[in-house]
Amino acid sequence: MNIDDTIVAIATPIGEGGISVVRVSGRAALDVAQKIFQPVSGTLVADMPTHTAHYGYVCDPATDEAIDDGVLTVFRGPKSYTGEDTAEISCHGGLVPTRMVLGAALRAGARLAEPGEFTKCAFLNGRIDLAQAEAVQDIIRARTDEALRVARRQLDGVLSTRIRMLREEMIGIMAQIEAAIDFPEDVADLQPTYIAASIRDAVAHVSGLLSTADKGKIFREGIQAVIAGQTNVGKSSLMNALLRESRAIVTAVPGTTRDIIEESLNIRGIPVRTIDTAGVRETDDVVEKIGVDKAREMIDTADIVLVVLDAARGFEPDDEAILRGLGGRKVIVILNKSDLVRESDLVELEGRIRYWLKENLSAELTIVKTSAPMNEGILELEAAIADMVLAGGISTDGALVSNARHRHSLEEALSALEQALGTAESGTPLDFISIDLRSAVDALGSITGETVAEDVIDRIFSEFCIGK
Ligand code: GDP
Repeated sequence: MNIDDTIVAIATPIGEGGISVVRVSGRAALDVAQKIFQPVSGTLVADMPTHTAHYGYVCDPATDEAIDDGVLTVFRGPKSYTGEDTAEISCHGGLVPTRMVLGAALRAGARLAEPGEFTKCAFLNGRIDLAQAEAVQDIIRARTDEALRVARRQLDGVLSTRIRMLREEMIGIMAQIEAAIDFPEDVADLQPTYIAASIRDAVAHVSGLLSTADKGKIFREGIQAVIAGQTNVGKSSLMNALLRESRAIVTAVPGTTRDIIEESLNIRGIPVRTIDTAGVRETDDVVEKIGVDKAREMIDTADIVLVVLDAARGFEPDDEAILRGLGGRKVIVILNKSDLVRESDLVELEGRIRYWLKENLSAELTIVKTSAPMNEGILELEAAIADMVLAGGISTDGALVSNARHRHSLEEALSALEQALGTAESGTPLDFISIDLRSAVDALGSITGETVAEDVIDRIFSEFCIGK
């Protein structure tokens, strides 16, 4: 990326819509705007104050022919998204006008932006740090309100502030150690116990952040739930009840859910990909067998398995076979069609299943009673899913680690700090502590981008969309 380049991209989704925005950013952004935009007021772009919008015509720079009418918004650097001069042209939201406005900007001297290049500019210009830049993409990709909230807080700098404070504390300790090594006569004896206590503090802070990572990941990436169970127990109906719409095939003929049906749900703020599997059973039908094999594979990789039983049929050997393969996994047992069974029989059935689970899997699983077509027990099922994956709930208020890259860096920092702590406690010379502290400082710096390899930065932004 050349810092002198002026880049352009369509910032809105490609397709038909109310408006489209073409964004130009860089040293020559306002020149490009001047060449392709004629405001009805006649004001020169160079004279337009920052953060102002102007109605006019987008014109071909070669012929001056009007392409479309629209609004030009001017942002002057450094107080713009990218930190550079930026012009945003809103035109009619159609494929042809949008592409023609983009083409005009290209002919006027801008080059096509790479994915995420505007945000990369913002990062390189110090408008936001790397964790905040990553949050921008998380906001765009958020699938639930809670996922959005987590990403917003990261963009607001909640995580970055914690990381920066930790890093500064460690740099402070390093400076003291280095002073004690370089100028032993000027620095009063540095107490190893004091150093050890400071490092112990840092260890606790980093561990605290890491302890949020499992749950942070759940909100950012979501989980995968598989609905398993024999044919005809009501898996598709349950999926529909969870979806509150009918896309899965619901029919009374066994073995018709041959394909894997996948839906995205929002369960208490957790993005859940739910997969309705074909009945897991032995079959000679080739098409159905593919579905069954796929179902087994899905069950193996799922975060949570919802095992559905037909309460009217009771607890059958095939149900036992399904549950037997799930020892140690996160499983919720669903007694569906509970409307067809007397309450006392239901209680008896539940007791029998609990006993079997304890004897055979040494497990105490959550059992939920549902009646899918009547929407009964669905809220309880949602609560059970959320409880199970979040293990007691989590507040998304504090700093939350949601990104695998951040988690990895924190683990690196933690291991370096533990090493430093061991050294400090064993009374080894101070310079050994410095080396480990430096590793910890660098690991933390890679989260916010102070110390991070260029290929990592490139990889992060390459996953962005064009125009962001
Ligand atoms: P799947 O093969 O496990 O996906 O089962 P389906 O969802 O296709 O359901 C099989 C049949 O059972 C359909 O006729 C459903 O209407 C019916 N069914 C599903 N859930 C219930 C329930 O809770 N109560 C009653 N009475 N019928 C149900």
